[in-house]
Amino acid sequence: MSLTLNNFTQLENFGHSLRAPSYRFQPKCAEDIQEVFRLAKQHELTVTARGAGRSYNDAALNGGGIMLDLSAMNQILEWDSATGLVRCEPGVTLEKVWQKVEPEGWWPPVVSGTMKTTLGGCLSANIHGKNNFKMGTIGEHVVEFTALLPTGAEITCTPKKNADLFHAMISGLGMLGIFTSITMQMKRIESGLLKVHAWPVHDLHEHLSILLDRAPDHDYIVGWMDTMNGGKSLGRGQIHAANYVHGNEDPNPQKTMQLNNQILPPRIFGVFPKSSLYIFMRPFANNVGWWGVNVAKYMASLRTHTFYQSHAAFHFLLDYVPNWELSYGRGGLIQYQSFLPKETAEAAWREMLNLSLKLGMPSYLGVTKRHRPDNFLLTHAVDGFSLALDFKVTDRNRANLGLMLQEFDKMVIQAGGRFYFAKNSETSAEHARAFLGDETIEKFKKLKKRCDPNGVLESDLYRRLFG
Ligand SMILES: Cc1cc2nc3c(=O)[nH]c(=O)nc-3n(C[C@H](O)[C@H](O)[C@H](O)COP(=O)(O)OP(=O)(O)OC[C@H]3O[C@@H](n4cnc5c(N)ncnc54)[C@H](O)[C@@H]3O)c2cc1C
Repeated sequence: MSLTLNNFTQLENFGHSLRAPSYRFQPKCAEDIQEVFRLAKQHELTVTARGAGRSYNDAALNGGGIMLDLSAMNQILEWDSATGLVRCEPGVTLEKVWQKVEPEGWWPPVVSGTMKTTLGGCLSANIHGKNNFKMGTIGEHVVEFTALLPTGAEITCTPKKNADLFHAMISGLGMLGIFTSITMQMKRIESGLLKVHAWPVHDLHEHLSILLDRAPDHDYIVGWMDTMNGGKSLGRGQIHAANYVHGNEDPNPQKTMQLNNQILPPRIFGVFPKSSLYIFMRPFANNVGWWGVNVAKYMASLRTHTFYQSHAAFHFLLDYVPNWELSYGRGGLIQYQSFLPKETAEAAWREMLNLSLKLGMPSYLGVTKRHRPDNFLLTHAVDGFSLALDFKVTDRNRANLGLMLQEFDKMVIQAGGRFYFAKNSETSAEHARAFLGDETIEKFKKLKKRCDPNGVLESDLYRRLFG
C-alpha cells in the first residue's frame, strides 16, 4: 500500500447532507492498518474507519483526517453450514453474507434495511432489525471478534473474554479499535419465504398499540407512518408483521431458498432500469409531492391482507430503488430516529409531529419499530418503540431544521428516550450526556484512554458528541 498523504478525497454521509475532505487509505490486511496508524502518528492526524459509508450522519466522516476505507477487506474467511457459524473480514457486506448462507438454509439473525452495510459498520453501530424486540441487536449474535488497537495491540473479544471491550467496541462507533475479523452465528430457516401480514392503522394511538400487542405473535414487525397528515389522522399508516415459514407450509423450500428467488430484479416491469428511478422521484421531493405520495400510499394500505415474500424483498425494501436518497436533491436528507419507552412514546411523538407540521418542515417518511433494551455500552434501544423520520435539507431550511431537531432532542430526553448514533446528525454533546448519563460517558472515556491513549481514532461524530 502506498503510504503518502496525496489521496485527499471529498467524502459524504449517506444522506448527502454533510461533506468532509479526508486522506483515503484502503487497507487489505491488518498490517496495512498498522501502517496507517504509524502514518497518522507521524503527521499528527486522526483516523476514522469507514465500511460502506451507509451511516446517515457524520459517524464515518473525518474532515481533515484519515479515512480508513475497509471495503477491500471483504473476504468470508470460514463458513460452516452445519453449525451456522461464519467468520468474515470487516468489510464483508450483509449482502455477501446472506447470499452465502441462505441457499444452505440460514439467514443473518439481524439485518439493517439495506444489505449494502458492512459487518464492521454494523457492529460499530450495533444495528437492529425489524425483529429487535425478539432477537436484540446484531451484537447479541457475535461469538467473537478480533480488533487492532491504535496502540498496536491485537485483541480477541467474546462475550466472556475481554467482556468490557466486547460490549463497548460493539456500539462504540469505531472509536476504540478497528475490527479485523468477526465471527457470527446465523439463524436456521426452513424456507426462502416469510409469511407477511399487513394492516392499516388509523391514528398514532392505534399504531403504537398494534406494534405493542401484536409483536409477540410475530418474528418481525415494522410500521410505515404517514407523517404529513395531522389532526385525528396523525400517526396513521400501515403495519407489516412477518413470520418464518415452517414445515410443509412451503412445498418447495429448496427452490425458494435459491438465490434467483431472492435477488431483487434490476428492472421494474422488466423494462425500466431501477438505477434511474430516483430521477423520476425528484419532482415529488417537496411538501406537496410527498403529501400526495403519503395520501396515495395510505389509501392503498387500507386492505388487511396476507402474502408470502422472499427474505430479501421483506428486509431490503429500500434497495429496490438504488440511489433513492439522491431524489432529495442537492441538500440531501437528515434521518432523525428517536427511541422512546412504551409509556411515553405517544405523547412525545404527537408533540414532535405536530411541531414539524406547524413549522412547515414535515418528515416525508416515517418508520416505526418495536424494541427491547440491551447491555452494550452506548446502547440506543429501550423497552418501547423507535420512529425514524426523513427530512429534506435545503439551503433555505437547513438552519431552522437543525433548530427543530434540537427541540425534538429535548422532547426525547424529557420523555426518557434515547438516540441512535448511526442516524441523527444534530444531537449535541450536552444531549448525548443527558441520555447516556455521566457514568456511561466516563466508562467510555476510560476505555478510550486504555485502547487509544493518543486519541488517534476520532471522527466528526466523536468530536461532536464527546470532544
Ligand atoms: C437505507 C438504510 C437503511 C438502514 N436501516 C437500518 C436499520 O434497519 N437498522 C439499523 O440499525 N441501521 C440501519 N441503517 C444504518 C446502518 O445500518 C448503519 O449506519 C451502519 O453502521 C452502516 O454500516 P456501514 O458499513 O456503511 O458503516 P459506515 O457508515 O461506513 O460506518 C459506521 C460506523 O462504523 C465504524 N466502522 C466501520 N467499519 C469499522 C471497523 N472495521 N472497525 C471499527 N469501526 C468501524 C465507522 O467508523 C463508523 O463509526 C440504515 C442505513 C441506510 C442507508
